Amino acid sequence: MSENNEITRRSFLSKGVSAAGSLVFASGLGLSSGKSASAKVAPLISSLKLDSLRGKFKGRLITPVDPEFPVVALGGLWNELKPTRYPQLIAQVLDEADVAAAIRFARSNKLKVTVRGGGHNWCNPSVRNSGVMIDLTKMNQVISVDKAAKKAVLQPIISNRDVQKRLNAEGLSFPSGHCPEVKLSGYLLSGGMSWNQGVWGHGVGSVEAVELVTADGQLLTASATENQDYFFAARGAGPGLFAVATRYHLKLYDLPKAITASSYVYPYEHLEEVAQWVSGVAGTLPPSVELSLFMVNAPADLADKCKESGGKVCMVTATMFADSAEEAAQTLSRLDSCPLLPYVLKSSTCEPMTFEQLFDASGALWPSGLRCNVDAMFSDENLATVVASVKEHYKTHESPSTVVMFAVFTGKNVPEPLDPTMAFSMTARLYGGPWTMWKEASADERNIAWHKKCVELLSPHIKGHYVAESDTVANPEFSRTSYSQKNWQRLSELRAKYDPDGVFFDYNQGLT
Ligand SMILES: Cc1cc2nc3c(=O)[nH]c(=O)nc-3n(C[C@H](O)[C@H](O)[C@H](O)COP(=O)(O)OP(=O)(O)OC[C@H]3O[C@@H](n4cnc5c(N)ncnc54)[C@H](O)[C@@H]3O)c2cc1C
Repeated sequence: MSENNEITRRSFLSKGVSAAGSLVFASGLGLSSGKSASAKVAPLISSLKLDSLRGKFKGRLITPVDPEFPVVALGGLWNELKPTRYPQLIAQVLDEADVAAAIRFARSNKLKVTVRGGGHNWCNPSVRNSGVMIDLTKMNQVISVDKAAKKAVLQPIISNRDVQKRLNAEGLSFPSGHCPEVKLSGYLLSGGMSWNQGVWGHGVGSVEAVELVTADGQLLTASATENQDYFFAARGAGPGLFAVATRYHLKLYDLPKAITASSYVYPYEHLEEVAQWVSGVAGTLPPSVELSLFMVNAPADLADKCKESGGKVCMVTATMFADSAEEAAQTLSRLDSCPLLPYVLKSSTCEPMTFEQLFDASGALWPSGLRCNVDAMFSDENLATVVASVKEHYKTHESPSTVVMFAVFTGKNVPEPLDPTMAFSMTARLYGGPWTMWKEASADERNIAWHKKCVELLSPHIKGHYVAESDTVANPEFSRTSYSQKNWQRLSELRAKYDPDGVFFDYNQGLT
């Protein structure tokens, strides 16, 4: 056990579970500051009741009196800004039958259910106050890869890096997310802002079927031809899904032969001009180019040159999923036509890349071990206008890890209308916002306030949110604004139809 885990465990035990076994306090766990450190009171489930589940359950049942409870409940979360919420029971399942048993147990004891996927959602909706947490951590197998048919079946807890590693070795690929450690589980249920999205579409568009355990403990398969309501919901409902997804059936693609990347670092002073140019060039690039504009801290070797901008720079990155190096070089050379090129501080052009290298690069921009506030949004506004609204605000920001990033969709510059048979329904010309990341708990208040202001400044430009990368805990309305009105309404109707007793937590329940 790591020192960190040990401290967490000790703090939890000393402050946590009362002799009567009914109180859980969260102080001392490195939890979100700015809020009361004492967590909710949730009654323990009696051992008599638990015994009725034990006989039907192969995995581990962990209760607040178990020493490992706080570590299992919160330790696996990506965001170091931990919630002050706890379930009453963690059911670490081994298979679908365990999932069904845990749901039936919750149902018959009038407990609600939450699901722990990979624990990577920035605002941690997998942890709710009270109820049963179904922890899928052990469901981490590749069930099959059919190279000829270009299909795979996977359990949920497999990371982007691992899925690409496995598929790339067979000459195949999949629209995974960008960062190495994020798991398919919640990524695929939420929508999936993916690599090569312009060509392959969102991750969820390549989900051909999902195996699910429903609110009454039934295992079913949802696809375009069976259980279509569940298929609609599973492709986008994210934290509001009223079932547990246990297997994904994926459509695969040929691995592009020449993944190629360029990046340009410009002085921060030229941010709006660069953004204006990026907006224009985006429409001339094919959809196989993923184009982004970052506001970031200058790399160490440029720090001296960037003092006047508070150490900030503007970075343009383009990754092309091409089939030949010539095609990539010819296309990416258009980025050299930027009139601001003479001012460029640093660049790297047409570098051949593997998925492994893409993950390393993304992993460096979004590193682990940090406290985070994240709000990524969709906008149809001009990129220059959007970045101008937060230019000064970012300049004053102190944390070296924070990035403000906007992906600018290429091709026709407006993504295709989304598939009406999936719940995921938000799209626009731009996607991005602030990923506020910092190290020290003592800086929580300052960073949270900075982030909130940044979200306020961006709000006039926002069309909608993305449920997987928005702070739906601080701003519950961002759940609704992650969907078209029609799909939000349909999701509510389906939840009422398929989970009438409210076994699963809704988007915003159990979070305060
Ligand atoms: C560093 C980093 C980079 C990221 N990059 C991207 C990116 O490139 N593209 C993108 O789209 N997103 C990205 N995300 C967001 C991420 O995809 C989502 O937050 C996603 O929910 C993470 O999946 P998870 O299994 O860890 O979810 P968790 O945090 O475990 O759960 C999130 C919600 O989904 C529910 N849930 C999860 N799994 C299941 C299941 N199997 N059945 C039922 N409900 C379930 C949970 O109950 C919870 O409410 C990134 C996140 C991080 C931390």
